Amino acid sequence: MSFETAYSDIVKNIQRVNPIAYANSRNYIDGAVTYLSPYISRGVTSTKQVLQAMVAAGHKPRQMEKFVQELAWRDYFQRVAQVHTRLFCTDIKQPKPQVAHEALPMAMLKANTGIQGIDTAIAQLYQTGYMHNHCRMYVASLACNITRSHWHTPSRWMYYHLLDADFASNACSWQWVAGAFSHKKYYADQQNINRYCHTAQSGTFLDVPYARLETMPIPETLAETTLPTLNTVLPPAQPITINPAKKTLVYNSYNLDPLWRAEEDVNRVLLLEPSHFQQLPISQPSLDFILQLAKNIPSIQVWVGEFADLRQLYPCAGFIFKEHPLFNHYQGQRDERDWMFTQVQGYYPSFFSYWKKCERYLADYNPQLTLFV
Ligand SMILES: Cc1cc2nc3c(=O)[nH]c(=O)nc-3n(C[C@H](O)[C@H](O)[C@H](O)COP(=O)(O)OP(=O)(O)OC[C@H]3O[C@@H](n4cnc5c(N)ncnc54)[C@H](O)[C@@H]3O)c2cc1C
Repeated sequence: MSFETAYSDIVKNIQRVNPIAYANSRNYIDGAVTYLSPYISRGVTSTKQVLQAMVAAGHKPRQMEKFVQELAWRDYFQRVAQVHTRLFCTDIKQPKPQVAHEALPMAMLKANTGIQGIDTAIAQLYQTGYMHNHCRMYVASLACNITRSHWHTPSRWMYYHLLDADFASNACSWQWVAGAFSHKKYYADQQNINRYCHTAQSGTFLDVPYARLETMPIPETLAETTLPTLNTVLPPAQPITINPAKKTLVYNSYNLDPLWRAEEDVNRVLLLEPSHFQQLPISQPSLDFILQLAKNIPSIQVWVGEFADLRQLYPCAGFIFKEHPLFNHYQGQRDERDWMFTQVQGYYPSFFSYWKKCERYLADYNPQLTLFV
């Protein structure tokens, strides 16, 4: 598995999505999932554009409801993050129950837990930067609920390695599994893992009734813990050229949209802030992926430094950026991001309360088409 970075290939991948096959098989590791998250997370495309592409291909919104619902999870978590801007380090609803430690089991770091479905998924994460949604849930459940780690360190470790690292989807999902953003912790037993990962293990520490999973002592294999080293090494800072007569579009690791104000004659700057990557470190392959994706944006220049310094150096640059809760400190003109259901805004305590509202608009969904170039 590899993730193309040329925009024309990404568009082809979007157009190849089959939302009906997706609904039937998405829970299986070899199901018809889309692998689009690295592009949606990095803002190359959006949930709205993906939905538009499906509608343009002739799919009726109601017939692909399961697919739209999954896309809506993304938008939902983004809405939560607009309110809980520090959700990557604070529990959203209640403190995670029964925390034994704040570290990561060594066996997970080494992809050596003894649970084949999980070990293969972690090895694949290291190799490709991708992990199937079900495997993410298994990994989170093992870390938080079986070994009783706080979600904080394990979620940062997963975020670090994911090409689709998205602080909202990541932290909300970890908190959901751990019982900090839900009222019930999520557990997966061996049978569940065997079914969706096509393994046939028995007699493992997860091969016990659900009631036992909730109360059993931490398995010996997972007892040793570690604090993984997670650092992002940014490229060396280079001077850039800003034409003060033109506006300046600010891109970042969450906005690499080649269609954004594409017709305008402007300065285009990819801003890599050391403070951002200190707070939320990503791996070298993730950083390389971001730099490659940025090449789809004509004449973009990379600036390594803080926004405040950029602004001080170029006070007349007329900065324009896209709204995102991690970058509320930018100053200038703020453009809205794409949402599938712009009418549904604000915080909803659960996905299903959010989805109920979205559903009202689904039957008549008739987006203004933004054609890919
Ligand atoms: C513990 C955990 C951590 C996660 N961390 C991240 C993360 O850092 N970044 C990230 O993008 N997603 C994260 N997810 C959500 C989900 O696993 C991925 O979005 C999905 O697996 C991406 O693969 P795909 O594009 O093939 O998904 P598909 O199944 O093909 O889904 C299509 C699109 O729908 C959206 N979507 C589907 N499922 C979810 C979901 N559960 N939550 C949010 N959006 C969803 C995504 O935009 C995805 O690209 C996490 C889930 C869990 C359980």
